[in-house]
Amino acid sequence: MNIYADRGNLLLLERRCAWRGIGFEVTAAGLGDAIDPAVHDLFYLGGGQDRDQVLCAQDLVDVKREALEAAVERGAALLAVCGGYQLLGHSYELEDRSIPGVGLVDVETVRAEGPRLIGNIAIEVELPGIEGPRVLAGFENHGGRTSLGPGERPLGRVLRGHGNDGHSGFEGVRRGNVIGTYMHGPLLPKNTWFADWLVQTALGLDEPLAPLDDELEDAAHASARRAAGVP
Ligand code: GLN
Repeated sequence: MNIYADRGNLLLLERRCAWRGIGFEVTAAGLGDAIDPAVHDLFYLGGGQDRDQVLCAQDLVDVKREALEAAVERGAALLAVCGGYQLLGHSYELEDRSIPGVGLVDVETVRAEGPRLIGNIAIEVELPGIEGPRVLAGFENHGGRTSLGPGERPLGRVLRGHGNDGHSGFEGVRRGNVIGTYMHGPLLPKNTWFADWLVQTALGLDEPLAPLDDELEDAAHASARRAAGVP
């Protein structure tokens, strides 16, 4: 799935890896395509409308779930955005049907009464190896409300915006290398520090990646923060 230019996330990763001489290759996995759990460092699940999710969900469960589970167990990173995040959990309950998820994290999503949760969003996150809390800024647009099971930790704390359900104050989920978030934007071009952390984590590197000249990227981050009201 791909919505709100989520493919920009992949382009950003490709570019930043290339600038550092890190090899980068994308393999798309469409409906029916099996995944080899041994060959990929990073998995990406984009967002989608409810209709797209109905089309993808069963295939994710039947064809890809086991391989995804094996891959993250051996240390691959996984980033799932919005509709992808919802399918990372147990299920997404719509009014008239239940869309199954792969259950890699203990979360559940319900399309409850109430308006869609739309707008600019900023959250505060703490990640292993990154000093102090940092801000992620982006855009959210979801009808589903997601709740975390008792042992599960959110990706971050909402500074501005709705987050998982509009009232818990939590956004996303992170279990080790597996991350789910409602943040579009696309997310990574507006938060390159997070993209670099993701690459470092996916490659299992102890040291952070070499810095780049991020003047424009920092301006994009600042602009996304301003839009969310967190300068
Ligand atoms: N269809 C889902 C929802 O509305 C996810 C939307 C999205 O990916 N932007 O909650």
